[in-house]
Amino acid sequence: MIRQYELVERVKNYDPSMDEDALNRAYVYAMKMHGSQKRASGDPYFSHPLEVAGILTDMRLDTSTIITALLHDTIEDTDATPEDIKRLFGEDILRLVDGVTKLTRIELQSDRTKQAENFRKLVLAMSEDIRVLLVKLADRVHNMRTLHFIESEDKRRRIAAETMDIYAPLAERIGIQAMRDELEDLAFAELNPDARTSIMTRLDYLYDEGSDTVDRVMDELRETAATVEIVPEISGRRKSPYSVWLKMQRKDVGFEQLSDIMAFRLVVANTGECYQLLGALHGKYPVIPGRFKDYISTPKPNGYQSLHTGIIGPMKKRIEIQIRTREMHEVAELGVAAHWVYKEDPAYSREGKKYRWIRELLEILEHASGPEEFLEHTKLEMYQDQVFCFTPKGDLISLPRGATPVDFAYAVHSEVGDRCVGARINDRLMPLTTPLKNGDQVAVSTSKNSTPSPTWEQFVVTGKAKARIRRFVRLQRRQQFADLGRAIMQKAFRQEAQKYSEKTLEGVLGKFHVETVEDLLAGVGEGVLSDREVLHVAVPETLPAPDKQNVVPITRARTKARKGSPDAVPLKGLIPGMAVHYARCCHPLPGERIVGIVTTGKGVTIHTIDCDTLENFHSTPERWLDVSWDLDSETDMHVGRLDIVLANEPGSLGSLSTVIGRSRGNIINLKLVNRSTDFFELYIDVEVADVRHLTEIIAALRATPVINSVDRARG
Ligand code: MN
Repeated sequence: MIRQYELVERVKNYDPSMDEDALNRAYVYAMKMHGSQKRASGDPYFSHPLEVAGILTDMRLDTSTIITALLHDTIEDTDATPEDIKRLFGEDILRLVDGVTKLTRIELQSDRTKQAENFRKLVLAMSEDIRVLLVKLADRVHNMRTLHFIESEDKRRRIAAETMDIYAPLAERIGIQAMRDELEDLAFAELNPDARTSIMTRLDYLYDEGSDTVDRVMDELRETAATVEIVPEISGRRKSPYSVWLKMQRKDVGFEQLSDIMAFRLVVANTGECYQLLGALHGKYPVIPGRFKDYISTPKPNGYQSLHTGIIGPMKKRIEIQIRTREMHEVAELGVAAHWVYKEDPAYSREGKKYRWIRELLEILEHASGPEEFLEHTKLEMYQDQVFCFTPKGDLISLPRGATPVDFAYAVHSEVGDRCVGARINDRLMPLTTPLKNGDQVAVSTSKNSTPSPTWEQFVVTGKAKARIRRFVRLQRRQQFADLGRAIMQKAFRQEAQKYSEKTLEGVLGKFHVETVEDLLAGVGEGVLSDREVLHVAVPETLPAPDKQNVVPITRARTKARKGSPDAVPLKGLIPGMAVHYARCCHPLPGERIVGIVTTGKGVTIHTIDCDTLENFHSTPERWLDVSWDLDSETDMHVGRLDIVLANEPGSLGSLSTVIGRSRGNIINLKLVNRSTDFFELYIDVEVADVRHLTEIIAALRATPVINSVDRARG
């Protein structure tokens, strides 16, 4: 185990202005919190965060990152709370530790390797601070180094697969080659030990046998460099077993056919020398076509810079060559970490330094160019517009930012969307309008008889959800118009003492330029076709024009329209907002006497029989329709509007809502219309079952002392 003073020394070496006190406190705190917990290896648990911190000091990371590494498992695995961390180490450290904790939690959710790309994006999107990701990666490196202590083979393989699919590519993406190589190699050893051993043996053999070869190649490269007066630092590098394995698979060749398993890295003083040296090598040796890549003029999006080429070099050996400067080399090995340290400008204040990190990364991303880089870059930018959420089974669903549980439901399956009635987000019941966040677990509840609501269209963001809802609403509306039209036609037939028959209607479809009886009925329901006209064409002996018979004079309607009126069109089965609308002026309620006004293209608007608005329709009697509630099947709630004057004193609004609530009325809207020193005047929209329910509420309110007056609001 690294000792406390050792850790402090390590950080001090590269950051003399470090906060020594904070680091010491974090060390002691983490050790105390993990207490007697043990690792699978039998080591004290604290050795783990300590090693993770150690890995990060190798990358010369700032004190906050090292402290975060020490504390990274405290919230998840000990009694420490976020409040404790904040109190002891401040807001910034809490934000970092919390970030790592969140990544650990989503990690526990599922078999994520099935959707590796999405999961990688989720991790990136959730690591708002690059340091969070670095701690998570270092955590994974240490867990992989100690993987063999885990007894269950299943568990080992699962962790290794996850490392291969998620974490190694993430390390690559932020430019930390050394970490990627180690993660890949450790995972490879677990997932495919035989292949790895066999490749290792052959590599050893080859290097042993050709140890002389490697030296001779290096000598000759040095000589060539000398011709242009460059003294490079040369390392002969064996390729990692995993990269050899990949190559064997990609090219579908055996080990013997892989001729370029020797790679040499030439580190020079500056960029000019890189190109000079490249020129010298290309001038002297045959170049293998397709192997030259200039990542200096066009860096990879992760900041990687180097010249790559393949030549048939000394002793006619096919070799790979990488040429780079010292700085480029460090960036390649340590990624953004090195980049930051390298470009460290003492003029920056401590505060400024902290945030330079992120700016540097963004800069790297911004300056990427070339088609390949462009794609990579675009993908990264896209995370800003996406959220990634889990199903209860742990599948990841990727959605545009702002997506709601309804979008999620449609993304899972169209049927789930159509039948969705509610959602639990992270085990809490939430409104369907809630915008989802990265890592949310969403459980959609469905009901067999439920259908999409037209109001959903106002808040969904995915095309799929929008299209399904629209299509459904369109079909449903047509169905509703047809149902209403059928009821209207039945009434018209009855009034003329004719027997209603759709067979009869079938015979006249051509005259109305429609194809089906449904179309014809929908036309009547929508108000595009007149019921009298249809009836007249179908049964010629009836009168054609809108005659007095069909006119529902207001006096007659007043007396006739009531429940059970034989001629009235029942509202049964009609969905408000589709083919029928309840007038906002009078808010009709079940049990009240009502009349319908047909509006072309819209269906029927229901008014109470005494609504003043009806005056406007006296000149168009053909638009009046006698309608009735179907009280037996009425289950929907309706909105009644109350005009209330109450005392302007503490608690009066509370009493008001208590009384309404006790009477099972649900307040859905509230508007202050007047306010004086002594009184408030409010409009309150209450959901009630019918007019009797509202009357009860009014009576209860009138009996309440703070309430001055209550009336139904009209107009
Ligand atoms: Mn850990």
